[in-house]
Amino acid sequence: MATGIVTTAFIDAARARIPDLRLLTDEVDRDAHRRDETSYLATGRPGAVALPTTTEQVAALVLLCGEHDIPIVPRGAGSGLSGGATGLEGALTIAFTAMDRILEIDVENLCVVTQPGVINARLKAAVAEHGLFYAPDPASFEMCSIGGNLGTNAGGLCCVKYGQTRDSVLGLEVVMADGSIIRTGGKNIKDVAGYSLTHLMVGSQGTLGIITEATLRLRPTPPPRSTLLAFFPTLESAGDGVAAIAAAGLSPVTLELMDRFTIRAVDDTHELGLDRDAAAMLMVESDLPGASAADELSRAEVACVAAGATSTVRSQTAAEADLLRQARRAAHWALEKLGEVKMEDVGVPRARVPDMLRAVERIAAKHDVRIGTFGHAGDGNLHPDLVLERGDPRGEAITKAVQADLYQAALDLGGTVTGEHGIGSARTEWMVRQRGADAIRFMHAIKDALDPQGLLNPGRVLPPK
Ligand SMILES: Cc1cc2nc3c(=O)[nH]c(=O)nc-3n(C[C@H](O)[C@H](O)[C@H](O)COP(=O)(O)OP(=O)(O)OC[C@H]3O[C@@H](n4cnc5c(N)ncnc54)[C@H](O)[C@@H]3O)c2cc1C
Repeated sequence: MATGIVTTAFIDAARARIPDLRLLTDEVDRDAHRRDETSYLATGRPGAVALPTTTEQVAALVLLCGEHDIPIVPRGAGSGLSGGATGLEGALTIAFTAMDRILEIDVENLCVVTQPGVINARLKAAVAEHGLFYAPDPASFEMCSIGGNLGTNAGGLCCVKYGQTRDSVLGLEVVMADGSIIRTGGKNIKDVAGYSLTHLMVGSQGTLGIITEATLRLRPTPPPRSTLLAFFPTLESAGDGVAAIAAAGLSPVTLELMDRFTIRAVDDTHELGLDRDAAAMLMVESDLPGASAADELSRAEVACVAAGATSTVRSQTAAEADLLRQARRAAHWALEKLGEVKMEDVGVPRARVPDMLRAVERIAAKHDVRIGTFGHAGDGNLHPDLVLERGDPRGEAITKAVQADLYQAALDLGGTVTGEHGIGSARTEWMVRQRGADAIRFMHAIKDALDPQGLLNPGRVLPPK
């Protein structure tokens, strides 16, 4: 693993070799690139922050870091929830804020070619002008970048129908640890030439290569969505509702869950008139055309009622559906009004959602803490948010204890410690327990082959050998 730090000699060499590069060296700027959204993690102050505008600048930086043995942290918008882009003391952070051009919208081939610094919402809006739709839809879509989405293989609200970020990637341009620039794919829908480096890079959190361009798959814009809300008297019946919708052969674009604590927080913030006494709510969206949407939601409603839903509500207009979706997206911020929030990201096989919800309740009672749970129930991916009183003296210790119980519960149910936020630096100690020592050994072999010097985001994703 690279152990050097940014020195005056490095800065001078970077300025001489890459004269047009913006390089931030002020303490204030370096501090601004220290954290992501995992506020509780210890971080380092970067030695410098580079803001490249071209792939060639990135490649030159990587070569220079190799010569000076300086670790590199690739960074998108810093909205990550696993500490993947947080600063390493004295290292170089390469922030992609200034590589923010959409290079081509190819209507004929239904794809877009983009630099990594483009914000997800801006890409969606740009392709929408051509009647096209970029599906990946993290709740943070107005703040996170395409590079970060690729780095984490971001999920979101419509994965249940359209898949995670990986499912919308056709090809990447990547700067490798030796400074070479490779292309892993292009505009071909089908392309099985060799190992899929695209799939290896997506989700590797900047540890195997630095993504400088992406060719992403688009779809024709689906019709505006309609929404069904179903309220359940128990968590278990809501879990049954999820299973019943799947069993009915339905494929809604969104199948989200909120528990009572989250319903109340969201309702307090947005005054939507939600059923505050329900134990859980499911939000089901359809983006099918014409009468098919109403039909899909009617069938989902029947499934929910059969599972025990006590009341249901349907959106009357597309604007109302948008409002409900915005409220769901803002669930995390609604909980933040109540205290200091630590968002978790466990996943379980869909049929085990009720078991995971029960485990969350048990864990909250055991530690005497408040946990608001919401998430992408259709994918079995839940976000239990630990909501601590601000200044709770149990702070870090209780966070660790709750996390450990949540992760173990998910693993016991055949699940995962992270469904979409990534291992980053927050969860490395759980990798062996989830994947097993042999799998980790092969992951280290891949890392060593692609980045023998350990330059790229060291200490993230993989536990120490
Ligand atoms: C309120 C809230 C809601 C959220 N909702 C969701 C959600 O629904 N679904 C979801 O998946 N996530 C969600 N997130 C988490 C976060 O927004 C995503 O992980 C997002 O993909 C991070 O993008 P970013 O641009 O902020 O990346 P960063 O946080 O800057 O980086 C994320 C990772 O990607 C790597 N990376 C960044 N750029 C590159 C590059 N060019 N090449 C290689 N690696 C790179 C970084 O090193 C890091 O490991 C949410 C976060 C918040 C705060």
